[in-house]
Amino acid sequence: MRPARTLPLPLLAAALFYAAPAQADYTICVVGRVQTIDSGKTIPRGPNAGDTEDYWSNADSGINKALQGIFVIVDPPQGADQGEWTDGDGCADFSGSVQNANVIIRSRTKRNGNHMILHGQPDTFSPTTSGWSYVFSNQNLNSNQTYTYQNIGSGIAKWTALFTANFTLDRWKNVTTGKYIHLGVDESCVASPPSARTDNRASAHYGPGSSASNSQITSGWHYLVLSNCSSTLLTRRKSIVSHEVGHALAALFYADSSSAANGDEPNCTDLNNDLDPARSPNSSACTGSSNSYSIYTKEWNSIAFREGFAHFVAAAAWSDKDDAGRAGSSGTGHEAEFTWFNDPQDLRRYNQGSGTNNGGRLENICCVEPGSNCSTSWDSAATNGDWMRFLWSYFTDDTCGSAPTKKEMLQIYQRTRLNGGLTKGNYYTRARTAMRQLVTSSCLRGRWDTWAMRTGVDNDT
Ligand SMILES: [Zn+2]
Repeated sequence: MRPARTLPLPLLAAALFYAAPAQADYTICVVGRVQTIDSGKTIPRGPNAGDTEDYWSNADSGINKALQGIFVIVDPPQGADQGEWTDGDGCADFSGSVQNANVIIRSRTKRNGNHMILHGQPDTFSPTTSGWSYVFSNQNLNSNQTYTYQNIGSGIAKWTALFTANFTLDRWKNVTTGKYIHLGVDESCVASPPSARTDNRASAHYGPGSSASNSQITSGWHYLVLSNCSSTLLTRRKSIVSHEVGHALAALFYADSSSAANGDEPNCTDLNNDLDPARSPNSSACTGSSNSYSIYTKEWNSIAFREGFAHFVAAAAWSDKDDAGRAGSSGTGHEAEFTWFNDPQDLRRYNQGSGTNNGGRLENICCVEPGSNCSTSWDSAATNGDWMRFLWSYFTDDTCGSAPTKKEMLQIYQRTRLNGGLTKGNYYTRARTAMRQLVTSSCLRGRWDTWAMRTGVDNDT
């Protein structure tokens, strides 16, 4: 709650003697009810076993959150509506006083000039203001009073998705402004045929040509789709929602450049860098299907860069970089953790916390077979999880005196795309080139190379 409002000082009143009598404000505060199904999962193995993310770790049992940046409208019986965005305390001031008004809380937010709009038209790729609202009618709102509306979103999964997306936007709010992210909810909930499951949609790369969602990024708009179905409950998975927002934030940051082009990251359509089936069973842990990937599968470096970056944005929303997951600091506080679906990941170690060998998951698990030299099969490949750990490790490594900022990480992503020449197998080399154009510190350049070697992302063709 904010402190009680104070009356004007007499001196100030005297100074305003010739002004019209000021109408005192009233204040509306909004408190949301968040309930996730993927919070508070703990790293299962390794030195940080038992640790979890820093924020909303108890949200699976439901938590109240002051809603920052949500749009509130006061609609009086006569006269014009007044709309305000709540501040960092989840409150907004309105002028005067009104009787019998509607108080409307919309399913949209704004943080640092960036908009998040939750709506029900995921396949309409044009600006929309449609969405959902809470409407409280016959409200008497008097000067110098504070009115708090609670339990917004209680029991309604798609509102949790909005609050999750808004939190992610807030954690990355200082990197750009003036953007619009349309979080389109698909509620058709049809589970067949499998190739077009509408109850399992979570994407930032979809629509006609698989790129309609990215077709207006140079105008500052990005589209996301998320199924809101009891069969999958994606809207209650904060890791999924923040991952998709991560794609949008990266693409919109890239598109801030006048040299940027609309569309997806180049050469990201070939999913699954197939393993030789003869290498089973070890390889099977890294083999996906021809039209999907997971955090564990062996992919082309293009996919792993794209997906790993979205994982990184999400992870950096839920975990603070001051507890980066270093060995030796286990047992207290929250070390860096990121849950993907039901699997908690250590942000520094593959194999959910136990993997510390150089080469990450790709080189240690995806291709390990007695008597076989698998090194050639690493060419052009990586796993999404290895890229996530690589980016997080570089981002949090302060051994050079200062670690890279979120904005500097996005600048590397941006420059990687702006430089062009991206194939499905050379994203690491191109990202490294971008980094070296932006980073002059030989120490930081060295840390990049060290983490790339340790996490196994440096296997371009
Ligand atoms: Zn993704």
